[in-house]
Amino acid sequence: MKKINEITTGKAKSLFTTELSDRLIMHFRDDTSAFDGKKKEALLGKGSVNNQFNAFIMDHLESKGIDTHHIEVLNSTDSLVYKLDMFPIECVVRNRATGSICRRLGTEDGLVLEAPLFEFFLKDDDLGDPLITEDHILSFGWAKEENITGMREITLKINKILSELFLNSNLILVDFKVEFGLYDGKLLLADEFTPDGCRLWDIETLAKMDKDRFRQGLGDVVESYHQVADRLGMNIET
Ligand code: ADP
Ligand code: UDP
Repeated sequence: MKKINEITTGKAKSLFTTELSDRLIMHFRDDTSAFDGKKKEALLGKGSVNNQFNAFIMDHLESKGIDTHHIEVLNSTDSLVYKLDMFPIECVVRNRATGSICRRLGTEDGLVLEAPLFEFFLKDDDLGDPLITEDHILSFGWAKEENITGMREITLKINKILSELFLNSNLILVDFKVEFGLYDGKLLLADEFTPDGCRLWDIETLAKMDKDRFRQGLGDVVESYHQVADRLGMNIET
């Protein structure tokens, strides 16, 4: 499968049309950004580790009954996916409080939540990705009720599946963000699941092994992603 035209250049990935109108090539770049694109850097090898990490997680989720846009890995940095009509929404689940929720609610950093907390955010960097409710989504027509319910249920199911997967490798899944889209009216998990879009802490030391290393200038960003991949038994080609 060959790339034809670039149709989207996001902050970390680029999407290309292919000879099949319902399939895209998702290219993972080394570009890394934080704070709604205000901090940017290219981190050598990040695109490659993220592409392969994402494929491993998408395959694992598929094996547990989650429908995803992922079709196959094409090379170290590229994967083939179904072309979706994306919802302009980010679905976040938190098992511990850290990041924006601490800034918003003054919560103690690292607090273990009584139950996983689900939140919707509007995908809009210029507005700083604001927190929104189901009512905002309905009133502004960003998604229909059945898909709102679906996104929430699937994201919470993903949290259960992946919390267990990471725990088996002595990692705490602190929180994560996922996105969804429609393929012929069917709700599919889209975009990516990599350490760029989740928080993973070592179970013993609580060391951060995710994009917070970049956000907070802790160094060894790509190295940490590789360490997580190794712990999960992924065979990453460099
Ligand atoms: P951002 O949009 O945050 O800058 P990326 O660099 O990851 O991030 O860009 C990837 C873009 O591709 C995002 O806008 C995402 O919503 C979109 N996308 C992800 N999966 C699909 C898909 N299967 N079909 C169409 N668009 C997708
Ligand atoms: N996240 C993301 N993209 C975003 C915003 C958040 O992937 O645009 C992820 C982030 O990596 C974390 C979770 O969603 O795993 C919750 O992020 P939070 O709301 O705490 O925001 P942040 O502190 O990252 O601004």
